Amino acid sequence: MTTIELKRGREASVERRHPWVFSGAIANIEGSVAPGDTVSVVAHDGRPLGVGHYHDGSITVRLLAFFTKELPDNFWADKLESAWQLRQRIGLPSEATTMFRLVHGEGDELPGLIVDVYGDTAVVQFHDLGMHRNREAISAAIMGLTGGPVQRVYDKSSETLHFFHGKYENGYLAGEAGEGVGIENGHAFSIDWEGGQKTGFYLDQRENRALLGVYARDRSVLNAFSYSGGFSVYALANGAARVASMDASQPALDLAGANVARLGKEMSARHELIKADVPKYLKEVEVGAYDMIVLDPPAFAKRVSARHGAIQAYRRLNAEAMRKLPKGGLLFTFSCSQVITRAIFEDTILAAALEVNRPVRVLHRMTQGPDHPVNIFHPESEYLKGLVLQVEG
Ligand code: SAH
Repeated sequence: MTTIELKRGREASVERRHPWVFSGAIANIEGSVAPGDTVSVVAHDGRPLGVGHYHDGSITVRLLAFFTKELPDNFWADKLESAWQLRQRIGLPSEATTMFRLVHGEGDELPGLIVDVYGDTAVVQFHDLGMHRNREAISAAIMGLTGGPVQRVYDKSSETLHFFHGKYENGYLAGEAGEGVGIENGHAFSIDWEGGQKTGFYLDQRENRALLGVYARDRSVLNAFSYSGGFSVYALANGAARVASMDASQPALDLAGANVARLGKEMSARHELIKADVPKYLKEVEVGAYDMIVLDPPAFAKRVSARHGAIQAYRRLNAEAMRKLPKGGLLFTFSCSQVITRAIFEDTILAAALEVNRPVRVLHRMTQGPDHPVNIFHPESEYLKGLVLQVEG
């Protein structure tokens, strides 16, 4: 195994269990190394700091284990088992909720690995070559979870393994192809893990969808950036008067339509699909057309260099929604950009409220569910931030 030595003093963040080693912290690489290799990281005086996967990039090593020179035996099976234990401890899966995140990258000390479970199907995303090289061991560990639900493992890494320049083919690592239905808080959704976005469903919004249900009765709801209609289904099932699911993608709207259809004719009659660009639509819609708006846009900033532009886009989008809500209207607003911290997000929403010049109150602060745990030393893994706002005046 290649050894990577850090500059004197640059071991501090690793000693606090932050799992990233940046290129600027490296003093010396002993031996040859290629992307995807497992490497040992030591301090300037040779103290072992940990073992991780090597990349070509500013984050040069992502650590899997701390204060050791090699990975323990049964590493993958033990890590997956402990991720599974945590999910069971937080009550997942259950009769009411059969889909959940089993592995959340750094939050489970497995940087570069995402595993989402839909009933008996696990969908895996490798975000780096090191994880990809261990795909057989990871798949076997998922299939072998003690009392685990998984019968098939689908690898969906074509959009996350940039190393293959778009030529990577998704496929099953274990079990046969199949289709699925996932249940979340008692609501059933068709899950298209092969053709849908990400691993098939945005599991991080589970608790926030339930919160929306609390407020939905008799409301007229615009679910903007709806994807497969998660928020729409909860709103209708909780007595919303009218719900519009809006997305720019027709396949997303088709999924939303199919998921609402499961609720039956009476609720489908209160639902509308709108294919539109959300910012443009909000600019044109009249004040009071909806008294509840959900804004869950895709990440506007994927890297720090895009942050400034993203902040302006969030401000404009939220200001437009605040302008169009009637007195007492509710706004459920989110950012899933990792580089937009909660502080920046809340400042941006404040700027939007100032621009609109209406009284705005914060009712709730929202985040991702506990199956997306955050390593406290790696605050970047808390990527989902949200606010429930009531607009007055
Ligand atoms: N709220 C969803 C997840 C949203 S993901 C859920 O709970 O499942 C973001 C969605 O925004 C994607 O479906 C994408 O197609 C859509 N989108 C991106 N840009 C858009 C735009 N300008 N107007 C409308 N939809 C857009």
